[in-house]
Amino acid sequence: MKTTDTPGQVPPRRRRRPRSATPATAEIRLSGDATVGGVAIGPAMLVLESPAPDIDASARTDDPDHELARLAEAIERSVRQIERLRDRLAILPEDGQIEIGSLLEVYRRMLGPSRLQRGIHDRIVRDGRTAELAVREETESLAQALLHDGAQFGGEDAAAAQRRAGEFREIGQRLMRNLGRAPFRSFSAVPAGTVLVAEQLRPADAALIDPSRIVAVATEEGGSTDHTAIMLRALGIPTVLAAHGLTARARDGATMVVDGTTGQVVIDPDEETLAVARRGVADHARERQALGRLRRLPARLSSGEKLQLQANLELPAELPLIAQSGASGIGLLRTEFLFMNAEAMPDEDRQAAIYAEIIGTMAGDTTTIRVVDWGGEKHSEALERAGLNQEGDTINPALGMRGLRLLLRHPAVLETQFAAILKASVAGPVRVMLPMVTIVPELREAREIYHRVARRLRRKGVPLGDSLPPLGIMVETPAAAIMGDALAQEAEFLAIGTNDLTMYTLAVDRASAEVASLYHPLHPAVLRLIQAATEAALRQYRPISLCGEIAGDPRVVPLLIGLGLRSFSMTASAVPRVKKTVRALSFEDCRRLAHRVMEASDVAEVMDLIDDFATGT
Ligand code: PEP
Ligand code: MG
Repeated sequence: MKTTDTPGQVPPRRRRRPRSATPATAEIRLSGDATVGGVAIGPAMLVLESPAPDIDASARTDDPDHELARLAEAIERSVRQIERLRDRLAILPEDGQIEIGSLLEVYRRMLGPSRLQRGIHDRIVRDGRTAELAVREETESLAQALLHDGAQFGGEDAAAAQRRAGEFREIGQRLMRNLGRAPFRSFSAVPAGTVLVAEQLRPADAALIDPSRIVAVATEEGGSTDHTAIMLRALGIPTVLAAHGLTARARDGATMVVDGTTGQVVIDPDEETLAVARRGVADHARERQALGRLRRLPARLSSGEKLQLQANLELPAELPLIAQSGASGIGLLRTEFLFMNAEAMPDEDRQAAIYAEIIGTMAGDTTTIRVVDWGGEKHSEALERAGLNQEGDTINPALGMRGLRLLLRHPAVLETQFAAILKASVAGPVRVMLPMVTIVPELREAREIYHRVARRLRRKGVPLGDSLPPLGIMVETPAAAIMGDALAQEAEFLAIGTNDLTMYTLAVDRASAEVASLYHPLHPAVLRLIQAATEAALRQYRPISLCGEIAGDPRVVPLLIGLGLRSFSMTASAVPRVKKTVRALSFEDCRRLAHRVMEASDVAEVMDLIDDFATGT
């Protein structure tokens, strides 16, 4: 028997009332928003949030200082949680990063010296409220005021007010949970192959999902355009959101079919439904296989020139994605993951083991390991304890102590990392990359440390190859791009980081939503610097690649090829798409495109030329 539970969304033929004693095997069909395409079958795991602790509305305190101290601690914990979520954003494509990053930024600001905080504070001190009650009353009062104003204007304003009210409530919930030490949902113990079922997933939850363990997501609430949906799309997990009635009917361990293309969720599917779903899974797999065949084809232009398409890696969990993508190596291994959620520094041997495992998995393809690029707004207790904080540089962290500067100030961290990479280098081909190099002396100083560490290891009898892994630099500042010739004489390879290069060239903070509309990696100023650095490297016969986000955009890569680049490193999921595009291109066409683009004086013109090229007009 099939029972359907979403009036008006499925054919009436199937609409039947569930019987009071529904047999355990009865199939239940629900419809929701088709959010991320693909079909998956698996056992359900309900991750329902435990209710927040009860709050006594009549409770009063005669010790406001104690309540203020509890509040301060809860705020601190909340900020740390949000920082950790922000640290995970790097695994998302740029759109997702911007979207979720700005939301997390809003949360961060609310937790800073804000109207919300002042209101909570007043309620504790003036009205004798407990911290929990003050948080609940203040967030609710701000949310209600917004909803009231929004309702008066209607339309877009009402929708914006609803979102903003939701943000206040979300922060209120987080603070109340932290005050009551109520646990947050954890997805860490999810067995592989699970279908995740929840009332609602917040972006913060979605950031914790491991795509190698969760085959599908189905929720009771949410919409296909909200922040969570964007994150799930970025993770590529078949998803149906807003399947009403889901959590009341799904049971832990029940077999579920989730079809993210049609928006159907089936609990306890019967044989017929399972057979159809299995075909859906097989079709999906075949499609992926077709892409897989493309992955095995060489990355060559139609005119014969060979390209190198590599992957950026932020977390070891992405290694299987890299293998599937057909990337020929790792062009940028961001090692920040080692330090992010750690309370203590990973020691030399621990780091060496992690690097060796990654290098070994790459089976002969090169792994480019970038030493930790710390600074900006990232947070790591381990690095702070090791002294790598920004030492009061709070106004302009991007221009302060970050990247290589910070490491040279604290060479012990750099030495440990160099030693670990050198030890791991016997596991396969490796390159070592320095972040945020601005001037030649920084490179020289780092190189001296690198050689000193290698000598020390050799003296201790640690086996290293005859020649050390090449030591190269990221070109992420205008100074480095302009001084490309001088740097290329001393660096063994270069990699252009357009994410930061754009920020520093256009003076636009890459993490700020307020100036996001001014952040243009294809601005002619940035393109000229890319061209200058590329030509400088080629003049010195040094390998040069590009590993900023634009390397994964098939519309942009033809221009970059025309500027002389042959090597790109990108988010793994972009490799097949980029390969498909480049295999249809001739070098001469790319060169002509670059020639035209380099005459453009504004970004709109550049975009038009690129779009015309992509659409063949
Ligand atoms: C860049 O800046 O382009 C880059 C690749 O480094 P990250 O994004 O890690 O700063
Ligand atoms: Mg960078």
